[in-house]
Amino acid sequence: MTIGVASLVEELRNSLGPKAVITDPRELEPWVTDWRGRVHGAAPAMLAPASTEEVVQIVRSAAEHRVPLVPQGGNTGMSAGATPPADGSAMLLSMRRMNRIRAISAGDRLAVAEAGVVLATLNDAVHEVGMRFPLTLGARGSCTIGGLTSTNAGGTQVLKFGTMRSLVAGVEAVLPDGSIHNGLSGLKKDNRGYSIDQLLIGAEGTLGVVTAVALRLVPAVAARVVAWAGVDDPRRALELLRFLEERTQSIEGFELVPQDSLQLVLKHVSGTRPPLSGVHKWHVLIEATTPEAGSNISNEIERLLGLALNQEIIGDAVIASSEAQAEAFWKIRDSISEAERAEGQTLAHDISVPVADMPRFIMDASEQVERAFPGVIASGFGHLGDGNIHFHVRAGSHAAPDWYEAEGAAITRFVDDLVTAAGGSISAEHGIGQLKRAEFARLAEPGRLHALRAIKQALDPLGIMNPGKLVP
Ligand SMILES: Cc1cc2nc3c(=O)[nH]c(=O)nc-3n(C[C@H](O)[C@H](O)[C@H](O)COP(=O)(O)OP(=O)(O)OC[C@H]3O[C@@H](n4cnc5c(N)ncnc54)[C@H](O)[C@@H]3O)c2cc1C
Repeated sequence: MTIGVASLVEELRNSLGPKAVITDPRELEPWVTDWRGRVHGAAPAMLAPASTEEVVQIVRSAAEHRVPLVPQGGNTGMSAGATPPADGSAMLLSMRRMNRIRAISAGDRLAVAEAGVVLATLNDAVHEVGMRFPLTLGARGSCTIGGLTSTNAGGTQVLKFGTMRSLVAGVEAVLPDGSIHNGLSGLKKDNRGYSIDQLLIGAEGTLGVVTAVALRLVPAVAARVVAWAGVDDPRRALELLRFLEERTQSIEGFELVPQDSLQLVLKHVSGTRPPLSGVHKWHVLIEATTPEAGSNISNEIERLLGLALNQEIIGDAVIASSEAQAEAFWKIRDSISEAERAEGQTLAHDISVPVADMPRFIMDASEQVERAFPGVIASGFGHLGDGNIHFHVRAGSHAAPDWYEAEGAAITRFVDDLVTAAGGSISAEHGIGQLKRAEFARLAEPGRLHALRAIKQALDPLGIMNPGKLVP
């Protein structure tokens, strides 16, 4: 521990009490490595404030002692944004003790949750008052409202409800100078210049500490339909989405699954079965919901899929006949990464291109990667309707203990160049963190980099908020 860190720890322990300052390495251990287990950091202490006032005190003291802070929620982020540097120069700032839901108003369609509230807890609480927070994702049992806000997280309902940027009505945060920004009023209209709330969304902890968030709610789901369809190619899949969207408002999930991914899931994940009897090159998982009690959404989707079948947009389709079957369909989609891991080494790229270009991009990019690196297997799955897929490259015949080190960077650069040439983004929903910083610096437009650096410098001149992340 340096003298600065030691005196900061001492000062905060005296003022905030022992619960707020953890130095036992065994307690710190699970929080200094990223979720994928790829990046290992170190921290002399983890600070765990219980209120916004305590965060103010921590930020002011950290600035005074020039000790950087790494905000952390559930540590489920995919870009190692919440992992401290390996030299132990920064403190972890865990927001998990700030876990109060301050208010839920069905009338205003708003909830105010502190940063450490876990997504599943919020989802359950708003459900009890007949409302819904329309964002869910695989990490819902651990990820927090502060983390979701700071990464501008997406999930499987972006098609209808947007990312966190659309779902956040306002943010309360402690800025790097220790001042509080309070945007929790939930005003629908507020044109007092720059939106500090929007600046903090997706800032990955580099501009301040999010302490609470006002979240937009919608009425709870009264009925849902989950269906599985087989299609010839991603172009047909997108055609199906447009066909459905022109005829119903109810589609909120539309996930593309290649046959290769389905086969991997069937091979490695116990209890999974193919939803359709025939073999199709590509598949889509469709979720439709309605808040209207008594509406016969199942008949509507069945009729529309029948029409799509007659028009040869799809080759076959099945509607889940029970909640258990609906969950079984989703399990296939949610298990793709796990099945890939079980099969062998995989390089993951969370990318986006304009929606209309995505079918062509998937086919061309897969072909080009496989041609440039013969023996690897490339494919894309995920949120087709958002123009966001997880473009994964499996080692295939290149599998070797040092494959990531030997070839990983070259393959990722190849993919990122294709994405950039297609006018896309190398990070659709997982942020930049530390894993994508070099590629971001290499490929981002100069104007974007200039603005990002200028904003960071203006708000955090001492560089104490999550250094080494996002801003190259
Ligand atoms: C199985 C699985 C499925 C996933 N699916 C999706 C998906 O579909 N869509 C998607 O977008 N993401 C997905 N993710 C990624 C992840 O869940 C999200 O990025 C989530 O938003 C991270 O929340 P967290 O609380 O774990 O944040 P952390 O991982 O702790 O932190 C993430 C970033 O936010 C910063 N941060 C955290 N809390 C605060 C705060 N209070 N103030 C300031 N900065 C803060 C951290 O410094 C870090 O930079 C998935 C992850 C897993 C493990």
